[in-house]
Amino acid sequence: AGAIRFDNVTFSYDGVRPILRGVDFEVPPGHMVALVGPSGAGKSTISRLLYRFYDVKTGRITIDGQDVRDVTQESLRAAIGIVPQDTVLFNDTIEYNIRYGRVDATDAEMREAARMAQIDGFIKQLPLGYKSMVGERGLKLSGGEKQRVAIARTILKGPPILILDEATSALDSFTEKEIQAALDSVAKGRTTLVIAHRLSTVIGADTILVLDKGRIVERGTHASLLEAR
Ligand code: ADP
Ligand code: ADP
Repeated sequence: AGAIRFDNVTFSYDGVRPILRGVDFEVPPGHMVALVGPSGAGKSTISRLLYRFYDVKTGRITIDGQDVRDVTQESLRAAIGIVPQDTVLFNDTIEYNIRYGRVDATDAEMREAARMAQIDGFIKQLPLGYKSMVGERGLKLSGGEKQRVAIARTILKGPPILILDEATSALDSFTEKEIQAALDSVAKGRTTLVIAHRLSTVIGADTILVLDKGRIVERGTHASLLEAR
């Protein structure tokens, strides 16, 4: 489950300036597609359209063959997990922030989500145990720590589709590597759309789409794109 298809999607925010032009691609179930390209190329717009922050008027977006305009907001939210660039956490405990929307989650599920998001790993660097960690206030966390909380929350929610907005550029390189590893483990087995800021972070993507000014100008694997240069 979780096949994504964009058919000839053209989009404008203001009805005047075209932002996406004839965008066509698919992500087979369980595959990872990465969107790369300069800032302003339209990468985030693609993810916003999939989540229906905006509706397309020209072209069609489907999930498992169903037009997203015919899917209820509830099913769309259940089907798609987003790990955003700048995670905004609630001013509550980390446990609350991870559990959000899954009040029924068991302790074992919580621990597994924390482990996959590598929260366990970074807790070891702190003079705090897991217990006090989950009791800390979300607002005090660093950018990388917030990312991990967002990843753990997404794992716990268990959606078949993931949108990853890789904002690892603001992180130091050690944190970036750790977050990257956590993101890779979450993406495994899910249909994943990655907004990538560096080609080197998406070596594992099945397909890389290069966007420029709202068009897909190149598509291929990491190796084939490098060869074409
Ligand atoms: P990318 O993710 O590749 O950096 P975006 O999809 O965020 O690009 O933006 C593509 C273009 O759409 C940019 O020119 C941006 O200024 C414009 N844009 C983004 N969001 C909006 C909006 N809400 N209203 C109007 N224009 C927008
Ligand atoms: P409460 O009213 O529930 O105590 P607060 O909003 O006062 O919650 O914040 C709780 C703790 O988080 C306080 O120690 C505060 O200094 C800290 N804090 C609040 N906002 C931030 C922030 N943006 N960055 C870092 N620490 C913050």
